[in-house]
Amino acid sequence: MNGAYSGRQQKLTTPSSVRPQPGDRSAYTVDYLFEGFPGKSATHGGLGWCTVSLVRGRGRVALIDTGRFGARRLLIERLAQLGVSPADVTDVLLTHSHYDHSVNWTLFPTARIQIGATELDWALSQEWGSSVVPELYMRELESWPNVTRLADGDETLPSLVAHDTPGHTPGSMTFVLDLGEFDVVFAGDAVKNRSEWETRRAEFTIDAEASASSIREIHSRWLAREGSVLVPGHDAPLVNRAGLFEQRQRQPATVTARLDREPSETKFELKRPGSVT
Ligand SMILES: [Zn+2]
Repeated sequence: MNGAYSGRQQKLTTPSSVRPQPGDRSAYTVDYLFEGFPGKSATHGGLGWCTVSLVRGRGRVALIDTGRFGARRLLIERLAQLGVSPADVTDVLLTHSHYDHSVNWTLFPTARIQIGATELDWALSQEWGSSVVPELYMRELESWPNVTRLADGDETLPSLVAHDTPGHTPGSMTFVLDLGEFDVVFAGDAVKNRSEWETRRAEFTIDAEASASSIREIHSRWLAREGSVLVPGHDAPLVNRAGLFEQRQRQPATVTARLDREPSETKFELKRPGSVT
């Protein structure tokens, strides 16, 4: 394993990477463009700061989830830092339809957009305004020429397989990338954060029992191979170290505000009081 999980401070502007091991035939590179943050506003609803990952290799450039509107400019900037333009993206994989993961699929008009068939059908059946499904973006996706509806077990890219993990939404999918010696498990909101991973209980789920079952299934998949990485929907990745998890130091999460007449900004770092992370 390289230094990506050494716990060192990550630069805010530099996406963190998992590089294949020497001799690894899979030859994929994984970058976390955004690490999700396990927070919500106590006064203004959800933050929607989700994990956005980039998988490159075998002639494919794939985004796993896309973030919300507020992430658009930074998403393009972080792709550019890696030498990737939106036109280079060949695939967009959506773990589920919620706005904070899905709306930016429209930034990649030449990409194949992959989403669970069950998820898309469920999203389209939702009464407008009744959920955080972006109704119009899902309606457009239904008839999009480059949409692929996924079923359980489908290979989305070579060695990257989609699995049904319902609960948070009925069609939530987890994407499992086989990197040769270990797996990277992109769970989306089937596992949102470390707390859900440790307790096996999910918050904000349509079906709590289905969520618990999905988390157990994801856990056994992660446990099977030393070094496997669980990528939660709203938290930093967790690595399997002899059956116990090791969570990399979270990327900084900071809010700035202009609170006075002067254009200076006040910074609020979102972290546990008294802790360094
Ligand atoms: Zn969600």
